[in-house]
Amino acid sequence: MLVVMRVDATDAQVDAVCAAIKNLGYEPHPMPGAQRTAVCITGNEGAVDRDRLAQLAGVREIIRVSKQYKLVSLETKSERTVVDVRGEPIGGQELTLIAGPCSVETEERTMAIAEALTAIGIKFFRAGAYKPRTSPYAFQGLEEEGLKILAKVRETFGLRIVTEAMSEETLPAVAEVADVLQIGARNMQNTALLKKIGKCALPVLLKRGAAATLEELLMAGEYIMSGGNHQVIFCERGIRTFGDHVRNTLDVSAIAAVKELSHLPTLGDPSHAAGKRNLVPPLARAAVAAGADGLIVEVHTDPSTAWSDGAQTLSVEEFKRLADELRHYREVFPPTQSPVAI
Ligand code: PEP
Ligand code: MN
Repeated sequence: MLVVMRVDATDAQVDAVCAAIKNLGYEPHPMPGAQRTAVCITGNEGAVDRDRLAQLAGVREIIRVSKQYKLVSLETKSERTVVDVRGEPIGGQELTLIAGPCSVETEERTMAIAEALTAIGIKFFRAGAYKPRTSPYAFQGLEEEGLKILAKVRETFGLRIVTEAMSEETLPAVAEVADVLQIGARNMQNTALLKKIGKCALPVLLKRGAAATLEELLMAGEYIMSGGNHQVIFCERGIRTFGDHVRNTLDVSAIAAVKELSHLPTLGDPSHAAGKRNLVPPLARAAVAAGADGLIVEVHTDPSTAWSDGAQTLSVEEFKRLADELRHYREVFPPTQSPVAI
């Protein structure tokens, strides 16, 4: 259920509605918008006593939300969410480009990549200090040492750091240096971690699991939002199919579908989908054409010696060409703003 407040409703009236919802034994989630505030109700098993709420001052209407996911739904909030990351938007008109190596490497190498990306106008730096590798024998990330290097990148270049939080245990340390917490594909349904992330004050990049349905992705976002953290960004990074010509099949239809179902921004990750460098540009174009609000791309000053995922990593020069081209694509394929009927 969604209680839509009038445009002129006061804060006190919104508070009174929230108190009434609590009194009924449910959970209120105020969702302020540019036009008006709505209060989403969760925790109700059956029908909510509409009449009790409809008569409260400042209430315009009460709407039933048909989907299982409520807070992430475009039914609940028809205005698209723009996540602010230290003054840089994700969502809205701008195409966001997040770039950097798969893993944090030595301080010298990581700083050199960050410097090269800053020089071409990139504002978001990706690199994992904790790496979820398929093999236990593969490099697992520099861990605390990597976080220190990321802190230096942030301080020196002002880049916004996007880095993965893999466990509840290491989350506090990762949150110290991250501007955006990445939840990887393997952890998309780690509900204990999602609950913790829901209590964090940082934006979250939630990657779709390799075998997750769209509904499961949206429900994972719902876990985070229902904990109180409304700054969720979805990311399509490819799913498991029978095809073996790529590492994962980039599901561009998921990007378009998420934009139809949710107000939250959605990015594409052409690198982990492609698995090979030459396929990254075409998949990046496809993601933008499908309506992605931005991309997260693996980039290195020397991809052939990258410590992980080198085969799918672009050089800075290759990435610059792609970034320049994508800005033109964005003019041809502007973000869809249409509130869509579901
Ligand atoms: C990554 O971004 O380096 C990564 C491990 O991604 P995913 O969780 O999508 O596999
Ligand atoms: Mn990687």
